[in-house]
Amino acid sequence: MSEDCIFCKIIAKEIPGDILYEDEQVMAFRDIQPAAPIHILIVPKKHIPSINEVTEEDETLLGHLHIVAKKLAEKEGIAERGYRLVINTGKEGGQIIYHIHLHLMGGKKLITPKHL
Ligand code: 5GP
Ligand code: ZN
Repeated sequence: MSEDCIFCKIIAKEIPGDILYEDEQVMAFRDIQPAAPIHILIVPKKHIPSINEVTEEDETLLGHLHIVAKKLAEKEGIAERGYRLVINTGKEGGQIIYHIHLHLMGGKKLITPKHL
């Protein structure tokens, strides 16, 4: 728990979030400013600022985020059509919230930027 972290506050239920899934390790809630018809954030309960700070100890947790994403994609009915999973890292990676989160986006044909 980091005092000034908005995602820690959602996890602690100090501020509301549109929570879709929760277990001991992670929480998933809808993005407040969706970039696609379905836009869910899968967030570890452990406060890790970014991928730059992960250690070997977090290997299972990072895998678990993806398993939860896969299940939510199925639940939201977009598994077959396809979707995108993204973790932005650092300033040039477009990270705004410094608490790791996996974006699950889908429900429309997503535009792939030219640099990818
Ligand atoms: P980043 O750019 O750090 O990868 O993504 C941060 C995401 O968090 C953005 O898509 C933004 O819309 C979302 N976000 C920011 N503040 C809140 C909030 O208070 N609640 C929710 N549900 N999403 C938020
Ligand atoms: Zn946090």
